[in-house]
Amino acid sequence: MCIFCKIAAGEIPTHFLYESEKVVAFKDLNPEAPSHVLVIPREHFENAAELAAVDSATLSELFGAARTIATFLGLDGYRIVFNTGASAGQSVFHAHLHLLGGRAFAWPPG
Ligand code: AMP
Repeated sequence: MCIFCKIAAGEIPTHFLYESEKVVAFKDLNPEAPSHVLVIPREHFENAAELAAVDSATLSELFGAARTIATFLGLDGYRIVFNTGASAGQSVFHAHLHLLGGRAFAWPPG
């Protein structure tokens, strides 16, 4: 079982900022911004592309959860990132949405 499957299943004690039947959200272990939250499907998909192909409703729910969390955290602007594939920086191969906020962000991203 992958690390995010274990978190979603409650095998690794984790505070969920948001949870539903399909998705959970928790703080990133190594935050890249004052607010850095990961929103993941409970079910295992390798990345966002696979999730989009198989279960677009849950992909949509990740965005809805991110919106709810951003409002809860009082973020006036934020960035959503899906690193998809190792060349894009993906290091955990269980689909996850990064919600980043609390600072200014440069464009283009590195
Ligand atoms: P990515 O590089 O897009 O695959 O993002 C994976 C993210 O997961 C990184 O930002 C890590 O800091 C984060 N991460 C890895 N393990 C954990 C964990 N056990 N709890 C919370 N965040 C984690």
